[in-house]
Amino acid sequence: MDVRGKRVLVRVDFNVPVKDGQVTDDTRIERALPTIRHLLSEGARPALISHLGRPKGEPDTKYAMDPVARRLERLLGEPVKKLDTAAGPEVGEALDGLDGGVVLLENSRFYPGETKNDAGFSEELAAPFDLYVDDAFGAAHRAHATTVGVAERLPAAAGLLMEAEIDYLDGVLKDPGRPFVAILGGAKVSDKLGVIESLLGVADSLLVGGAMCFTFFKAMGYEIGDSLVEDDYLEEAKRLMDEAKDRLVLPVDVVVAGAMEEGAESQTVPVDGIPTGKMGLDIGPETVDLFEKHISGASTIFWNGPMGVFEIDAFARGTEGVARAVADSGATSVVGGGDSVAAVNKLGLEDEMSHISTGGGASLEYVEGKELPGVAELPDE
Ligand code: ADP
Ligand code: MG
Repeated sequence: MDVRGKRVLVRVDFNVPVKDGQVTDDTRIERALPTIRHLLSEGARPALISHLGRPKGEPDTKYAMDPVARRLERLLGEPVKKLDTAAGPEVGEALDGLDGGVVLLENSRFYPGETKNDAGFSEELAAPFDLYVDDAFGAAHRAHATTVGVAERLPAAAGLLMEAEIDYLDGVLKDPGRPFVAILGGAKVSDKLGVIESLLGVADSLLVGGAMCFTFFKAMGYEIGDSLVEDDYLEEAKRLMDEAKDRLVLPVDVVVAGAMEEGAESQTVPVDGIPTGKMGLDIGPETVDLFEKHISGASTIFWNGPMGVFEIDAFARGTEGVARAVADSGATSVVGGGDSVAAVNKLGLEDEMSHISTGGGASLEYVEGKELPGVAELPDE
């Protein structure tokens, strides 16, 4: 797009955690900077819009964008003019008055029309602008006014982060360097059936940890104690195991404890020896070694879902071992999912991954092969 002198509405994902008026994790703001800087260097007049939290379609100071504006200004090193509105005459006036820097509009979810993708609200949003850029991959699985409505009303393009998200995920799903090793964990099989199915269609091996492995073990007839299990999914688990055969790699040992809490007494047991009354809360060291062998030989890696209850130190070693193996592998590595990304960040390994997706739900839906409304609206080129 030729953006010089143009008024550009940029949908960003500034849905960041805020505590006591301070942004506590500014990753999503950082990740939007390349697009903002690009627009500024090309002489555009950008106004940024995002949702923040879950206000109920009306202004709520708790979710105002002011803390985001302050952090953005510091990271960008350019003036940020924050408005208390997202639509109306003030927007055009602010753009006219812009002398370098950017406008930051108020929380899009202060308006009931946002989540309804309301035509009137979309018109109002689009009115002051010449162009629309969507850099909010994390919101692309929602058909809202700021992701779809405005894209239908203005010439639209993907931002640089959106492009990187799609390129990395497409690279993994459509043409991965082989061997392609997928790693899945987290809480529930049911959340991720579509993801498992889709990855089984393309991965050379699928390593399964987290709580979801116990549904597989129960389906195999093992005693799983009090481990998390989804009894409604035993048949699905069997079917997936039949389909995957030896491409599905399950843990060989697990760390068990009587309770999911800090300080609980824990022990490592083989997966066919989980004692009654205990719950599996992490993969064991032999499993880490086994997974590491697969990971170190991989050319492409996709990882979603922690290997254990990483929030508690005693059950974080499996996730840490896998994260370090991925970091050391030299493979093209893509990490998606809110908690998985939090785990990688907690370990300080974020710079060792090729790509960390900013879209939790969106990245999983994309891997499942679902069409994301906010992506579908954008031109292919
Ligand atoms: P993501 O957000 O990366 O997609 P999920 O939300 O699916 O991941 O799963 C993350 C959660 O799974 C974490 O809160 C973690 O504590 C939990 N979890 C992982 N392993 C276990 C387990 N063995 N038992 C219970 N919970 C687990
Ligand atoms: Mg999660």
